[in-house]
Amino acid sequence: MEKIDRSYVRKIRYAVQWGIFLMVAYAGYKFYLFAQALENGLIPAVTRPPSIEGFMPIGALMSLKLWITEGIFDPAHPAALIIFIGALLVSLLLKKSFCGWICPVGTVSDAVWKGGRKVFGKNFEITKYIDYPLRSLKYILMAFFLYVIIIQMTPLQITGFLNTPYWKVSDIKLLKFFTEMSLTTKITLSALFSLSLLYKNFWCRYLCPYGGLLGLLSILSPVKIKRNETACIQCGLCSKNCPSLLPVDKKETVRSPECTGCLTCVSHCPARHALDAILHKKIVLNPVIFVSGVVLIFFGIILAAKVTGKWHSSITHDELLSLMPIIHALAHP
Ligand code: SF4
Ligand code: SF4
Repeated sequence: MEKIDRSYVRKIRYAVQWGIFLMVAYAGYKFYLFAQALENGLIPAVTRPPSIEGFMPIGALMSLKLWITEGIFDPAHPAALIIFIGALLVSLLLKKSFCGWICPVGTVSDAVWKGGRKVFGKNFEITKYIDYPLRSLKYILMAFFLYVIIIQMTPLQITGFLNTPYWKVSDIKLLKFFTEMSLTTKITLSALFSLSLLYKNFWCRYLCPYGGLLGLLSILSPVKIKRNETACIQCGLCSKNCPSLLPVDKKETVRSPECTGCLTCVSHCPARHALDAILHKKIVLNPVIFVSGVVLIFFGIILAAKVTGKWHSSITHDELLSLMPIIHALAHP
């Protein structure tokens, strides 16, 4: 057997994931300063980072419907829609790679289960009779949001919602959800953290409806992880290291919507040509090309939005200042 070492793929992945995480953390800090100034009745000295709108996917889904049906691009939080489109497109073309390479929640989740493995000596696995129904939870949540927004809400109702004061300050309300946590939020987040220490990617695997949607879309992706039976030496390292617990060594092609295209399996495979990301059933994608594609598509869309003026919110500082005194009273309509 011709041996290969592709551990560099994991190094690239850490660099991409943590690079993006640091960018998001910095944006979060700037947004905190921005909101603090408004809270004190001041015009913020820092500019508002639009990327924090990436944490508003439900509003983004409404915006997407409005854009497709009416051609109206939500001016209040356009970056929410841009990031949502980027995640959808990346997942449609290159597996669920938004989850595997870009999402900061996925990055933290990865770090937590790896920390748990150090503490407990292993990660635990939920028996498959419970794992299957639990995994369906994220699809049920996703179906609920798709039904309410895509099927039930009319464009007029969506326009009404996107014009409410609530939507205008929903980013600041989201920030307050974390900076002024209720007891219920603290208990829920602590429970999620503890479960994520024990089980690999607990939130992503069982509960995230965003990931559920991207996973279903990724089934259509022309790129798949493929195993070559002739070159494979049946070492099982791919399955052992897959963060999504997929039986890679038993499959010829990994078609699961749980596959995040993280390439961890590929990076651990010691046999040349045994396991690769394959485009259109025959073109081997070098891991560097794969990740370059993920980064270029996602950030290319953001760049295009910046150039075409679809990135920054149209909400003025004066508007925000007038809403701050009543922000606690503003509820989802
Ligand atoms: S099959 Fe490979 S690429 Fe897919 S989630 Fe598992 S390790 Fe990542
Ligand atoms: S495909 Fe999986 S089982 Fe086969 S050689 Fe590679 S890591 Fe080992």
